[in-house]
Amino acid sequence: MNDPIRGIGVGTGSAAGPVARMAPVPALPAPRPVTDPAAETAAVRTALAAVVTDLEERAARVTGPGFDVLTAQALMASDPLLADEATGLVERGTDGAHALTAAFDGFRAALLTAGGHFAERAADLDDLRDRAVAHLLGLPVPGLPDPGHPYVLVAEDLAPADTALLDPARVLALVTVRGGPTSHTAILAKALGVPAVVGCAGAVGLADGRYVLVHGADGVVEPDPSPEALERAAERDRRRRELSAAVRGPGRTADGHPVALLVNLGAPHELAGAAGADAEGVGLFRTEFLFLDRAEAPGLAEQAAAYREVFAAFAGRRVVVRTLDAGADKPLPFATAADEENPALGVRGLRTAARDPRLLETQLAAIAEAARTGGAQVWVMAPMVSVPREAAEFAARVRAHGLPLAGAMIEVPAAALRADRLAQVCDFFSIGTNDLAQYTFAADRTLGSLADLLDPWQPALLTLIATAARAAAEHGRPVSVCGEAAADPDLALVLVGLGITSLSAAPSALPEVRAALAAHTLAHCRELAELALHADDAADARAKVRSRTAGSR
Ligand code: PEP
Ligand code: MG
Repeated sequence: MNDPIRGIGVGTGSAAGPVARMAPVPALPAPRPVTDPAAETAAVRTALAAVVTDLEERAARVTGPGFDVLTAQALMASDPLLADEATGLVERGTDGAHALTAAFDGFRAALLTAGGHFAERAADLDDLRDRAVAHLLGLPVPGLPDPGHPYVLVAEDLAPADTALLDPARVLALVTVRGGPTSHTAILAKALGVPAVVGCAGAVGLADGRYVLVHGADGVVEPDPSPEALERAAERDRRRRELSAAVRGPGRTADGHPVALLVNLGAPHELAGAAGADAEGVGLFRTEFLFLDRAEAPGLAEQAAAYREVFAAFAGRRVVVRTLDAGADKPLPFATAADEENPALGVRGLRTAARDPRLLETQLAAIAEAARTGGAQVWVMAPMVSVPREAAEFAARVRAHGLPLAGAMIEVPAAALRADRLAQVCDFFSIGTNDLAQYTFAADRTLGSLADLLDPWQPALLTLIATAARAAAEHGRPVSVCGEAAADPDLALVLVGLGITSLSAAPSALPEVRAALAAHTLAHCRELAELALHADDAADARAKVRSRTAGSR
């Protein structure tokens, strides 16, 4: 099979390399009687030793937080109590896979009971358990692959927790079977600056080691590409990079209308790249990374230290901090209920602050403390604002901490429709097009099969953006787009034409957005916006705008 495989493209470049698949979690087989306890015990010990060796080898190849995490995991897996527990179970008649599972689960429960830092590591034990069981059963080890050379990562889908250990120096491109244009994989790919194809059902047939060419812009994966195809793709990328490199500095249109270009920041390992990017600051600081994978929220001091590091890296520049956005695609055990039937429509985002006001209070206090010494211009905004009252209450709490600028994210259609009222109670808006698309079209943002509805070129979405931008302008409020839409150079022109005053995207996306702005006047952006607003559908909007921008950069 050499036919190209299609999915949803993310990013503008291309990359080629051998496939390395992320193996799924092994299914536990039915229990079986133990006929040779000595052999079964040895197999359990060998499986645990293999997990430790894997982790130690991986730790030896990385530095920084990755090293610490892997070393800590290796230590846990080599705990003699764990091996004794598992082998004891085997001796009492439990087969190896079930014995390992029970031993790890017992340890997990003990860590959770111990609370604090121990409880935070409980989730790691699930990963170790799955790895040990896979070794025992002779199945591919789940989790991120580590073939020892750069690779194209092919996975069913990626969760935020999978990505913490992803080594950007080794992952050439991402291809996932599931996921839509605003899924975590798409966001991660942009943050890493690698091309990706998501929602790519055909990727299930791609075997480990197969050489593929991944085209981010077109959403195509070419298996076994010819040397000519590789050369054509490389040439296109070269040309794109040259054009983008020709324009630097603050964003502005061809006639000098300023459009601040800012970066999205979502993980500590992105900080150095983000701070070094040619950008006027951070337009979306996703603070969830501090809260993910933990049993309890981090305390004030820990949060303040993390925020201060970001503010110091952006001293003199703007940093827009988004307060905790828990729930739905970002579930957190201590902030969100596990039993909601529709978590995307449940107590999430700012709504969690009504349920547990201390979470927001502690976070605002930590931001305020860090802002006092960090040196950045700190703006604070709330996710998932629905009605003006929420925005007003949030703004009052922000100001009570001495933080001067409080904003609302526009991610719910109701907020866009009533943006004139919101603008009276807060200082700025930031439009999260990922969620705004999800809620406008009643389409789960993580579903690749609904990608057409989630397309940020949808005229209905653009109409809501225009409504919010108009209200912001009437009240003299800045209005940004920080969802994935801001990373598309042609759509960026449309957004500026609709009245957006700043764009925030992954650092890798900014050079092309900057080059696009520099090639078009504000008047032309407004014409493009009119074309898109009045198009029949997303494809029509994109085609009409691209027919007017093609060849301009
Ligand atoms: C959005 O919804 O567009 C957004 C920027 O927030 P997140 O993707 O983190 O939900
Ligand atoms: Mg959002």
